[in-house]
Amino acid sequence: MKKIGVLTSGGDAPGMNAAVRAVVRKAIFEGLEVAGIFNGYEGLIHGKIEMLQLGSVGDIIQRGGTMLRSARSSEFMTEEGRLKAKRQLKSHGIEGLVVIGGDGSFRGAAELVKLGVPCACVPATIDNDINGTQFTIGFDSALNTVIDAIDKIRDTATSHERTFIIEVMGRDAGDLALWAGLAGGAETILIPEVKFDLNEIITRLQSGSGRGKKHSIIIVAEGVMSATALSETLKAEAGIETRVSVLGHIQRGGSPSAKDRVIASQYGARAVEVLHEGRSGVAIGMQNHTVVDYDLDVVFKRSEDKLDKELYKLSKELSI
Ligand code: ADP
Repeated sequence: MKKIGVLTSGGDAPGMNAAVRAVVRKAIFEGLEVAGIFNGYEGLIHGKIEMLQLGSVGDIIQRGGTMLRSARSSEFMTEEGRLKAKRQLKSHGIEGLVVIGGDGSFRGAAELVKLGVPCACVPATIDNDINGTQFTIGFDSALNTVIDAIDKIRDTATSHERTFIIEVMGRDAGDLALWAGLAGGAETILIPEVKFDLNEIITRLQSGSGRGKKHSIIIVAEGVMSATALSETLKAEAGIETRVSVLGHIQRGGSPSAKDRVIASQYGARAVEVLHEGRSGVAIGMQNHTVVDYDLDVVFKRSEDKLDKELYKLSKELSI
């Protein structure tokens, strides 16, 4: 193998740049050439490809977003689109591809693998929702952004003795809500993996204010319901007044945390090693502080949800 390509795809996440940097530098270290593919699979189909050098990835390790930019591509969802992508790779002499993204991007890579394109996938999504790895790139940075917001909201919640509902990202996975809720000292955490009991929330809020609690913070993952809907329900069912804060896209931006920079560097480098060893259809991840690589199929297996049940139990015990 002489030349590999790298792209970022799907929802962006802080640390994607650090992963791109690692891929480029490790590949050059190993004597490979690296092509940067811009705008994800869409850019691949349309040949938005440039050679990257050591200096091309200078001064990006600390930046959020992705220098390769990201996109969603409906054309790539078709067989015809994927064949175009394959032809582009061939005409640019690219013999293997590092895909940095979430599970949709991994599904795209799996389709390319079926067409005979060697792929190694690096998990990058703030949702931390990829099977086979305990941590995805971007999760830790987003978590710190959410905690910063919770701390600030807590100040005003205390001053005005209010209950706040903070909506965080996470359509199917509650990791961000759970970790942020635990680290931010939230009284109630609602995640998609666990059915919630409205009466229990009402009782908690009422008994809290009964014992003189000055404020209350509820964290809700967007996949459960919107913060506004929850606020309206609490008002209608129990006359409880709440304020709502939807954190939205600030969670996806900002400088990556130290942890995300380190794992992005490790994952990016391992992806290059995997391709260099002539392997394909592999995902990279972390298990018990060790970088691992595993079959891409593991990502798509319907396993029991990834929720850390002990952590969820602890969050409930500590928020009595
Ligand atoms: P993420 O990678 O963040 O989960 P998406 O789910 O939007 O983001 O996926 C990114 C892109 O990956 C899509 O726009 C599409 O081009 C490609 N993709 C997703 N699922 C598939 C699939 N089943 N087959 C082929 N390509 C796919």
